Amino acid sequence: MADHHRILLERLAAEGSHTLDAYERTGGYQASRKALGMAPDAIIDEVKRSGLRGRGGAGFPTGTKWGFIQRDGPRPTYLVHNADESEPGTFKDRLLLERDPHAVIDGMICSAVAIGCRRMFTYIRGEYAYAAARFAAATDEAYAKGYLGTGIFGSSYDLEHVVHVGAGAYICGEETGLLESLEGKKGFPRIKPPFPAVVGLFGSPTVVNNTETLAAVPWILVNGGDAYRAIGTERSPGTKLFSVSGPVRRPGVYEVDLGYPMSRFLEEECGGLLDGVTLKGVIPGGSSVPIMTPDEVAKANLDYESIRDNGSLLGSGGFIVCGDNVPAAEALLNLMRFYAHESCGQCTPCREGCGWLEDVADRLLDAAGDPDDLHLVRRLSENMMGKTICALADGAAMPALALVTKYRAEFEPLLAERRVRRAPARHGLVGIGGRSGATAARPAGAVA
Ligand code: SF4
Repeated sequence: MADHHRILLERLAAEGSHTLDAYERTGGYQASRKALGMAPDAIIDEVKRSGLRGRGGAGFPTGTKWGFIQRDGPRPTYLVHNADESEPGTFKDRLLLERDPHAVIDGMICSAVAIGCRRMFTYIRGEYAYAAARFAAATDEAYAKGYLGTGIFGSSYDLEHVVHVGAGAYICGEETGLLESLEGKKGFPRIKPPFPAVVGLFGSPTVVNNTETLAAVPWILVNGGDAYRAIGTERSPGTKLFSVSGPVRRPGVYEVDLGYPMSRFLEEECGGLLDGVTLKGVIPGGSSVPIMTPDEVAKANLDYESIRDNGSLLGSGGFIVCGDNVPAAEALLNLMRFYAHESCGQCTPCREGCGWLEDVADRLLDAAGDPDDLHLVRRLSENMMGKTICALADGAAMPALALVTKYRAEFEPLLAERRVRRAPARHGLVGIGGRSGATAARPAGAVA
């Protein structure tokens, strides 16, 4: 097993790691103190130098994002900590929120000082009740010690922190859906541009950063951006958390130097597959990214570029291992059911497309597929990607397309059987079984 750097998980094994005392015993809040003595541009430059990229899924350079904020404009600036970790297969932020909340708050203070923010927000998904309680308690501790509130750390800098718990909608993890929800409205994603850095929370310039991203910031400010950039690869510097699920001997959350071979990670850190299971594929970045075949897994490293070059995306680092005991059609239905349920419904390609994909997957699993169904999945997916307000539609279409393309041989018999046995339509309709009257009326094989 490789000796990876420990930037994010180092403190978690200690007794009471979630408390302010424990965090300070390991040098905690040095970064905030240092940031308060630095010019905002110097903080941003240090983070830019580190090459840190957003760990929520998009991988956008963090320092560049902070640099977009106009600090001397007429409106206040805001930092919003996105702790709405809802991507299926992803549970790495929860660990930080529950076991090392002060590292996240430390990173938030650094970010706030860099962008001139005086009131910052944390948005935690509703299902993370325990994490939210732990994080709120850590915030109270920081207030009691004078690390938040008026004149933090004895300086003249005032900084408030509001912890908000969401109601449990996947789409509120999308940054503009989150901002809408935080403003007290339905979590409908906004059309971009304008981007949150220009018009964000309450119309003000806003940075939205993920939990893991913020937790990496204190180490960078204390040790320097160059030290962080020396870890990992040139274009994917640093370490990354991967939350591993599926039929492996040691599922869990791992911190890995980016660039580490994926197959070695699977064998050594995760302990390999359970007895009697062979690898069907890996979904490496949460359920919204394409599945990788064993051949692709063998060639890929755990970094943004290598995973992209081998047919998928690093995404959130939700590393879902699939054994050969999982039928591809079952995986397709499971995923499409989720996206059809979570689509907010604003965009026709997403609202209708997710529903259609679910229905096609449903009849494929029943071995009642129409001969054109695989082509239909392809055309539906292509009509969804890049044509909607937010990335949820792409997040449904990409895995659907990958499953029917890479595992086509598994789907073929489900179509062939249809030619000799036509199963009763599940929705009382013959054909697509769409979500609206218009789509339901289309003949089998038709595409919007
Ligand atoms: Fe809503 Fe889907 Fe459009 Fe996103 S893509 S805004 S989830 S309908």
